[in-house]
Amino acid sequence: MNLDHYLQQRLQEREGAGLTRERWICDSPQSATRLMGERSYFNFSSNDYLGLADDPRVKEAMLLAVNKHGVGSGASHLTAGHHRTHHQLEQALAEFTGRERVLLFSSGYMANVGVICALMEKGDTIFHDRLNHASLLDAGQLSGATSRRFAHLDYDVLKRWLQKNQSAKSLVVTDGVFSMDGDKADLVQLSRLCQTHHAWLMVDDAHGFGVLGETGGGCAQVDGLGQQDLPILIGTLGKAFGTSGAFVAGSASLIEALIQFSRTYIYTTAMPPAVAEATLTSLELIQKETWRRSHLSALIDQFRQGCKAKGISLMNSNTPIQPVLVGDTKKACEISALLKASGCWVTAIRPPTVPQGTARLRVTLTAQHSAKQIDYLIHALEKAFDMTASLHPESSGAEA
Ligand SMILES: *Cc1c(COP(=O)(O)O)cnc(C)c1O
Repeated sequence: MNLDHYLQQRLQEREGAGLTRERWICDSPQSATRLMGERSYFNFSSNDYLGLADDPRVKEAMLLAVNKHGVGSGASHLTAGHHRTHHQLEQALAEFTGRERVLLFSSGYMANVGVICALMEKGDTIFHDRLNHASLLDAGQLSGATSRRFAHLDYDVLKRWLQKNQSAKSLVVTDGVFSMDGDKADLVQLSRLCQTHHAWLMVDDAHGFGVLGETGGGCAQVDGLGQQDLPILIGTLGKAFGTSGAFVAGSASLIEALIQFSRTYIYTTAMPPAVAEATLTSLELIQKETWRRSHLSALIDQFRQGCKAKGISLMNSNTPIQPVLVGDTKKACEISALLKASGCWVTAIRPPTVPQGTARLRVTLTAQHSAKQIDYLIHALEKAFDMTASLHPESSGAEA
């Protein structure tokens, strides 16, 4: 089969379905506004929830570290690339999460694959929430274990499956805050279920760390879940931390086993030490600058109340991820385009990233937004919905 011919066919199929993905070049740091070429937009698609990606102190820490340690780490952690600042960051994160040890990974995707593949194998069972992040689902497949997906937050089904489960080892894995819906797993209930049924619990809290909890300790902090209750805890550094990379927090034996057996830890170059150094600074700011969380929380309330007043339907979320459910993929793209025209950057999220018929505008709020920008967005959303309703009167029910 001719390679390009084959690929052209697949690309055409995707385009025919209106699902072609596109990259948009950004000409500014990640912040409440984003520059594309000459044009500036209010940015409502960033995961930099606390506004630390462009913080002067975080940047300064990185610059100093580059001068001291150079740019690349130069090798993998197990050969010559494990720098002192990696080690210090691991210790600081262990203290932050209240776990015995922490291990750094180069990305959240790699952490999830590395952990699940080190722990699980053929003959084991992994229980997933249906809406788990793609990296968790992929990790399950790669591990060779059997993967079972329960309906979103349906722990009664999970309980029944766990009761009947005969496999050698079982792992229950979930997002802490769901990345496309913004709602939270009930970790207290999951932790109890896992203890009763001798399953291991793994939580990927990519969107909870920094944002939730008194000092930004995420879902585990909110629910007061220690290492015994929640033995495998994943955080990513590319979101609220504003840098890049990920970590696994847990017992000393978990971390030692990952160092020995985790292929995405062993066979890859360590993250640049300057990234670790910058992350040490953002970790301090996350804990100290509580105003970032309070301001963000006020913006979330403002956005939800404003949308409610305008009849714009939101999903059941009280986190910075505030998806506006549209349903139809084409309509979601049209609204996204209209928002862009009015200066608001909000990406439409379509299948297969989310289930069929649930295309949405994934609005994310950050501590850098102002109340005025939120009002502007609500107004732009209202206008865009009105315009698409007049373009497609049948879908608004006007002809019924
Ligand atoms: C973003 C994300 C990841 C991937 O993390 P990266 O560091 O970007 O690879 C993993 N899990 C969840 C839930 C995420 O939202």
